[in-house]
Amino acid sequence: MTNETKDIKAGVIERVTGPLVRANGMSEAKLYEVVKVSDEKLLGEIIELHGDVAAIQVYEETAGIGPGDVVYRTGRTMSAALAPGLLESIYDGVQRPLKDIQAASGDCYIKRGIEAQPIDLEKKWSFKPTVKVGDKVQEGDVLGEVQETTLIMHKVMVPPGEGGVVATIQSGDFNVTEMIATLTRDDDSVASIAMLQYWPIRAARPKTSKIFPAEPLRTGGRSIDTFFPIAKGGAGCIPGPFGAGKTVTQQSIAKFCDAEIIVYIGCGERGNEMTEVLDEFPHLIDPNSGEPLMKRTILIANTSNMPVAAREASVYTGITIAEYYRDMGYNVALMADSTSRWAEAMREISGRLEEMPGEEGYPAYLSSRTAEFYERAGIVKALGSDDRVGSLTVIGAVSPPGGDLSEPVSQATLRVTKTFWSLDADLAYKKHFPSINWLNSYSLYAQNFEGYWKEQIAEDFAEVRTTAMTLLEKESKLLEIVRLVGMESLSNGDRLILEVARMIREDFLFQNAFDKDDAYTPLERQYGILRSIVSIFEVAQEVIDQPEFEFATLTAIPSFAEIARLKDKLQWTKDDYQKFQDTLRAEISALIA
Ligand code: ADP
Repeated sequence: MTNETKDIKAGVIERVTGPLVRANGMSEAKLYEVVKVSDEKLLGEIIELHGDVAAIQVYEETAGIGPGDVVYRTGRTMSAALAPGLLESIYDGVQRPLKDIQAASGDCYIKRGIEAQPIDLEKKWSFKPTVKVGDKVQEGDVLGEVQETTLIMHKVMVPPGEGGVVATIQSGDFNVTEMIATLTRDDDSVASIAMLQYWPIRAARPKTSKIFPAEPLRTGGRSIDTFFPIAKGGAGCIPGPFGAGKTVTQQSIAKFCDAEIIVYIGCGERGNEMTEVLDEFPHLIDPNSGEPLMKRTILIANTSNMPVAAREASVYTGITIAEYYRDMGYNVALMADSTSRWAEAMREISGRLEEMPGEEGYPAYLSSRTAEFYERAGIVKALGSDDRVGSLTVIGAVSPPGGDLSEPVSQATLRVTKTFWSLDADLAYKKHFPSINWLNSYSLYAQNFEGYWKEQIAEDFAEVRTTAMTLLEKESKLLEIVRLVGMESLSNGDRLILEVARMIREDFLFQNAFDKDDAYTPLERQYGILRSIVSIFEVAQEVIDQPEFEFATLTAIPSFAEIARLKDKLQWTKDDYQKFQDTLRAEISALIA
């Protein structure tokens, strides 16, 4: 995150407490200005300013730094570097490429004061203009394109706040700091544009307007897409008890969802949590192209040996990069795992600032910071004169201690996210995957999608979904009764509910992420399977109360056994499901003939 700036000797350190440094003589400095601490030039950011005393959050280990050491100002705010070359990168919380800092340190321990460029400044990119001399362009307009990876075309945009008439523009090979165009501003001054631009990480990037989220992010997960969908541009929360399948679920979403760009922010407490991601992500294959998923992914990794302040910054770095690709008109999915670690970093820094602690020691602004973060999700009309639409979907994992969602981080998150996938340790123990609990998960977006489902999938999609969910609720009540008085006490109607609910769980919701055919189910097929299961319930209603009906004859019909195999019918079309439902109807009607 280094802009070309001169370091200005400014203040002197008064006190050091862990990642927090207080320095005086800082009256010229600005809030959120980046500073270099001591002659070791440790990266820091001013997070509080009272008179000439600044509280500085330091992104590196502060051992050995003490009163009397100098603080240098840089005159710039903490910003993300945005340019071709972001994709495939693995960064730390302040956008230093991990491989560079590790190479510079020479071992796995990260040395201090290392200046690593977030973007390769030498690499040449082939830039193709899409505007010509004389065109009038405004902030956000696309000036040209660069094939960033085989999967993604990078749009080079006029930075926010700039605009004018294109005076020069060149096609050819350029590095990110070379001038590709000049604009004559309204006041006749000239703006030189390079591919690299900066944006302060704590501020949302501007957009023209937000759009109502009426389209689902399609993930291929049956439990997610049909039962608990999230909008393109939506915000979701996923609690992650250890071993419940959080990593597998997030990786499946990253692989299969219809977002073009993935940003994954890992805030690991224990070293191995992050190692898993760092080991596995680079090996994931994009199912559509067969290319490495990294070609459309950016990873931000906070390992346990990184200072707490970098963890605090990492979510902002990640979301700023995500917004930048959203602005190009892409659908971006951002996953933050786990935001509880981010909140803990906030708590630690707040404690060092000696702020008044709120609930469980978290600062009083935990809720507002959490809300500000999730509010950066959205589907937007991007800045610029064309009608570019991009979306940023944010999925935040929380790790409540003991799974208790009443704790402050979960509560703050649940207030601002509209989809909640409740991963359930019991289901995982019973090997029901994904372990998304169907009774207490929810999606407040579902009602937005009724039009989409009707037009794109089927007239009765919403009804089928509601029926299936209601059957599962009834099942849970009936199972209580069965536990008390046994199956014998149940009517045929109740037994039917239990049978059909079992099918919904086992033959629809259960989905093996490691089976290449089962891992992804298009929404059309999800509907086909669930419609068939719900048809059994509906058609059987017509016969179960007839005096000559025997329940065992229903479960013996061929279609009943066939339901378990519907998942494997990858080629089935709408007509095939219809034929299956017709057969089903005929078989059930024959039972009382
Ligand atoms: P967490 O990240 O919550 O600790 P993981 O995602 O690593 O948990 O999941 C733990 C284990 O559960 C996995 O190694 C895998 O065996 C199993 N698992 C989780 N989700 C699925 C799934 N959708 N399909 C099959 N197995 C799964």
